[in-house]
Amino acid sequence: VELTQAFLEAIERLNPRLNAYITVTGEKALADAAASDARRAKGEARALDGIPLGIKDLFCTEGTRTTAGSNILGGFVPPYESTVSANLKRDGAVFLGKLNLDEFAMGSSNQTSAFGAVENPWSRANDPDRRLVPGGSSGGSAAAVAARLAMGATATDTGGSIRQPAAFCGITGIKPTYGRCSRWGIVAFASSLDQAGPVARTVEDNAILLRSMAGHDPKDSTSANLPVPDFRAAVGRGVKGLRIGVPAEYRLDGLAPEIAALWDQGLEWLRAEGAEIVPISLPHAKYALPTYYVVAPAEASSNLARYDGVRFGLRENGSDLKDLYERTRARGFGAEVRRRIMIGTYVLSAGYYDAYYLKAQKVRALIRRDFEEAWGKVDAIVTPATPSAAFAMDEKQDDPVTMYLNDVFTVTANLAGLPGLAVPAGLDGQGLPLGLQVIGRAFDEETVFAVGGAIE
Ligand code: GLN
Repeated sequence: VELTQAFLEAIERLNPRLNAYITVTGEKALADAAASDARRAKGEARALDGIPLGIKDLFCTEGTRTTAGSNILGGFVPPYESTVSANLKRDGAVFLGKLNLDEFAMGSSNQTSAFGAVENPWSRANDPDRRLVPGGSSGGSAAAVAARLAMGATATDTGGSIRQPAAFCGITGIKPTYGRCSRWGIVAFASSLDQAGPVARTVEDNAILLRSMAGHDPKDSTSANLPVPDFRAAVGRGVKGLRIGVPAEYRLDGLAPEIAALWDQGLEWLRAEGAEIVPISLPHAKYALPTYYVVAPAEASSNLARYDGVRFGLRENGSDLKDLYERTRARGFGAEVRRRIMIGTYVLSAGYYDAYYLKAQKVRALIRRDFEEAWGKVDAIVTPATPSAAFAMDEKQDDPVTMYLNDVFTVTANLAGLPGLAVPAGLDGQGLPLGLQVIGRAFDEETVFAVGGAIE
């Protein structure tokens, strides 16, 4: 209760500036914390008893408003709990509230949220004109953890939404293998790419949280029926004898020198710990971004068809049913979401399906095959997490393509379904955090945690 109280006070003090929480559930949190204390007193503590966490507002929480950062869900209170958050509850975690995000998780800066932008806690108080973004879409989750407004948080990653905000806020996050965590009860963006995962201060905290979040769920047909390993035991395992791949194609033209230096430094650390550094090639990596920005909007346009003004949240009156749909969707969706729906319906339309969607699916298979080949030579791959440190709120706003370039290092892992971890590895010239990314084989998060632990 004392710990929960302290976090609630910190939220009260700092959230008006950071805007990381959309909803704070203080009363519920204190009641749950008291129940945790009672269990501890009886010697019946569970794995996460009394640990205060924040929940990205994309996870449905029974009895607590869930917005997905969108007006279209206005006032939606789910009558059910997502499997991932239910797993955390089962283990005794205390939920402080629901965390801000880009609308329907579409964005890289948390600026598309209908509930306002989130500020990166690394913004300098003495430079109010240069407020930094926390990254996105899990900007609220990363900012809350970095500012100590939660000990950890849930997040989701469709193209980088766990790893990029973690890197921008100087914390750690893992997108597990596709299928490791159930997607049931998480508002869908692009179903073949979406994965839930934790963000927290350390690699070890991530391992502890993921253990609790993961596991087979009959309610999600894509959830893997595999045992959940003790990830925590892997964190300190070391990297002696591991082969670490360095993809040549990620040395982009114009890669910022400080990002290149960070990467070299990280590889040097791993070599010093006994890993072997192996140059590899992922020849189709350069097509990953355009492939993602066809596949993700296509799936999004289909998933978002359900918001029709009838079943959920917002409803605008119309002269007939079609008019009701149109008015509700025009009013309820923000500009970025509308852009994705238009791109998605376009690439799926009869005349363009073969040229765009089908082509993207084929390239996705090639990207996946590149990784298959790499796993013959290496045990993990290390790359930068992002092409830059956190940028200012007014940068990259006008041009969606510039914003999409943020995901250049992260989308491949989603397209191939592989686990990817972002871990802080240094600071840029202005003292802002920079992260490295560790990608592993499917369902081998343990090696990813071992490499992450060595970099940290
Ligand atoms: N930034 C990417 C996008 O806008 C990824 C978002 C995500 O992973 N949810 O689609």
